[in-house]
Amino acid sequence: MSQRFAPDIRAEIDRFVGTCPHDRIDFEAVETAVRRSALHLAARAVEQRLDADLSDHCGPCRPCPDCRQPARYAGRHPKTFETVLGPLTLQRAYYHCRACGHGGYPRDAALGLLGSSLSPGVLRMTGSAAALVSFAESSALLDQLAGVRVQTKQVERCAEALGREIAAAERAGALPAEDPPAPTMYLGLDGTGLPVRSNETLGRVGKQPDGSAKTREAKLVVVWTAESRHPRTGRPTRDLGSASYSAAIESAASRDTDPEPSPFARRVRREAERRGFPRAERRVVLGDGAPWIWNLAAMDYPGAIQIVDLFHAKQHLHDVSKALYPDDAERARLWADVRCDELDDGCLNDVLAVLRSHADDCEQAAQCAAYIERNCERMQYAAFRAQGLCVASGVVESGCKTAIGTRLKRSGMHWTVQGANAIAALRCCNLSGLYEDFWAYRTARP
Ligand SMILES: [Zn+2]
Repeated sequence: MSQRFAPDIRAEIDRFVGTCPHDRIDFEAVETAVRRSALHLAARAVEQRLDADLSDHCGPCRPCPDCRQPARYAGRHPKTFETVLGPLTLQRAYYHCRACGHGGYPRDAALGLLGSSLSPGVLRMTGSAAALVSFAESSALLDQLAGVRVQTKQVERCAEALGREIAAAERAGALPAEDPPAPTMYLGLDGTGLPVRSNETLGRVGKQPDGSAKTREAKLVVVWTAESRHPRTGRPTRDLGSASYSAAIESAASRDTDPEPSPFARRVRREAERRGFPRAERRVVLGDGAPWIWNLAAMDYPGAIQIVDLFHAKQHLHDVSKALYPDDAERARLWADVRCDELDDGCLNDVLAVLRSHADDCEQAAQCAAYIERNCERMQYAAFRAQGLCVASGVVESGCKTAIGTRLKRSGMHWTVQGANAIAALRCCNLSGLYEDFWAYRTARP
């Protein structure tokens, strides 16, 4: 702050603090007034500084960025941008190309204001908020916390554009990679249905009574480590801050005739590679029983240990118990608890024997038995634990909720696939601790 402006802020402080007994000061009012005054002065100073600098007027003509023909200088034009300092009106040199009709402001490009009325600082805040809460809540938060006005619709537009940039950076491998941070690394795969607009499900088979679909499946890959030990049980638990996420509504299906892996398989490869998963001494893939998960794991990580996430397995047993004892919650719970203990202890044959005894009268029991038979190699929990492996991380179980559900599956939300994927990219980047890295990359980009 230059000497010239300091007295203005001084006066603002004196107006509040100097005029009444100190025990009766409304301190919040002081803070708000001084902050507003300081920001206002800073905004005027930046405006004056930039408006006095005419270096963006670089002669009568400059090459058109689109067609390289000469674009002519056509005066200075004002535009108001929403910035961290409040609204800022800047005069900028305008060049117009007659050959292709392109009009451009070199200064906008230089300041990172191209094609947006939000400054980079406000855009970054908008992305931070929209990664966590709805567009309307983001708009309100920006106003409350920073005094920055961004309408709900504009939050949506800007956050989705930012999400698309993040997705492109992720695809291009621009986010920081690491060596395996631990000897054992875990990779979890899961999917969850996202509510989408009706035109996004046309011709798709779903679970609605008429066979139509209301949701599309978002698929998630999460990578983490579990070197920590539970203080009481001594079992491996997820290392805090070690989980990174990547998700999108994408196909995981690839036919044997396809030379290319599916879009989701490519996403998994990128995230695994970025985290150093393929180079870890011991690799573990966790998932529920969905066949696409084990196809993908077998294809890309043939040496990895495959484990059906214990949470998912127990969920299946609880579902069976409810089908067996629909009117007796207590009995259902007891039945499920005993089966879950057997599962924990590695007594799969005991679980199977009980399930088979119900198979004739209970479809769920028959299905669950088939599920365990199909996956029994992946459900040797006692043996896995003896090897010091994490079998019920909660990461896969909660991953879909954390990365997708909490932000994208709230009541009244209906997404376009493109919009959902952009916000999923934004949120995953944020949850994975990569948002600052993305901004460093974005700022350094030519
Ligand atoms: Zn042109």
